[in-house]
Amino acid sequence: MPTTLSEKDHQPAASPTGDPWLLTPGPLTTSPEVKQAMLHDYGSRDHHLIAINREMRDLLVKIIHGGQDFVSVPLQGSGTFVVEAMLGTFVPPSGKLLVLINGAYGTRMVKICEYIGRSVEALETPENVPVDPAALDAALQADDSISHVAVVHCETTTGILNPIAEVAEVVARHRRSLLIDAMSAFGAIPLDARNIRFDAVVASSNKCLEGTPGMGFCLARKDVLTNTQGNSPSLTLDLYEQWVAMEKTAQWRFTPPVQVIASFHQALMEFEAEGGVEGRGGRYAENCKILIEGMKDLGFEPLLPAHLQAPIIVTFLTPSDPSFNFENFYDRLREKGYVIYPGKLTVADTFRIGCIGRIGAEQMLGVLSATRSTLKEMGISNCAAAA
Ligand SMILES: *Cc1c(COP(=O)(O)O)cnc(C)c1O
Repeated sequence: MPTTLSEKDHQPAASPTGDPWLLTPGPLTTSPEVKQAMLHDYGSRDHHLIAINREMRDLLVKIIHGGQDFVSVPLQGSGTFVVEAMLGTFVPPSGKLLVLINGAYGTRMVKICEYIGRSVEALETPENVPVDPAALDAALQADDSISHVAVVHCETTTGILNPIAEVAEVVARHRRSLLIDAMSAFGAIPLDARNIRFDAVVASSNKCLEGTPGMGFCLARKDVLTNTQGNSPSLTLDLYEQWVAMEKTAQWRFTPPVQVIASFHQALMEFEAEGGVEGRGGRYAENCKILIEGMKDLGFEPLLPAHLQAPIIVTFLTPSDPSFNFENFYDRLREKGYVIYPGKLTVADTFRIGCIGRIGAEQMLGVLSATRSTLKEMGISNCAAAA
């Protein structure tokens, strides 16, 4: 039985705004100060807005130690918008993309290429297996026409960590261009451009950087981005034009999401104050540890072994007890102040609980306590999954 929980602790424990805690892959819980930063209007030429936009862009490059080699291009929209923008801007119409897939976000990149008319191939491993650098090596050896490779750093579908350094080494050795979707890892799992060779990485304001949702960004190798003029099949998602315009005018090309920029800037200040990637990743690792240990004590089984698990979101196997119904379980946890997430796997019936956002040990212990009460209410004593 769990030793860290007591029955009376962690009763309905809403956040300061009375909203439930979001233990999901996003949107995520943000700090009161991040929300507060949105209570202003700014014109697009406002000096303060221009200053924080500049600072935001510079800080993002610093997170990957990009130095003078990388530039920062923010873009309106959710994370997928900037993934689509990256693929359309970097892969020219004559190019060919190889996507490493072990989940929904890899699959989505293939779909984007089909929409925008880019040649694409996929190299797939099962959802509970990391992408395979040796298979990548063989694929690049066999096909000279592959110009670019795309990979997801942490595949949020399961929470699996992909071997980004090994993938980058293979791509660099074959002199192809690597594009990374680091959406759910960026800011919590190190990605150091001094040691890992890639041409572009994308992420968004509302995952591990804990801003509000509404914008993404691409950190791009400057000498590569410089040569992408005319590639993009989309006006609004053209990162080359977005970059050139922002350099020229210090303003966004189209109406800037000013409240999102202001709150993201505040979130980045809090990120720095927490100790950057090390501090943020450390808190999430602690969250993840508490969650997994507590859920195991309750009888749940995580999908992934510890060495493949990123401290971002954890996938648990659905108990085989016929009284366990996810919708019911979800609703009861929601009433207790915690929002979890369904699974979307083909390999097994699962659900997910996130470790990211402005949450800590208290919320992790809280969701464990709420889970324990909920199981009791549902009359479930055995959480083992089907063999
Ligand atoms: C969240 C996420 C995205 C973007 O999803 P949106 O819903 O468009 O914000 C892309 N890739 C990964 C790996 C993600 O976790």
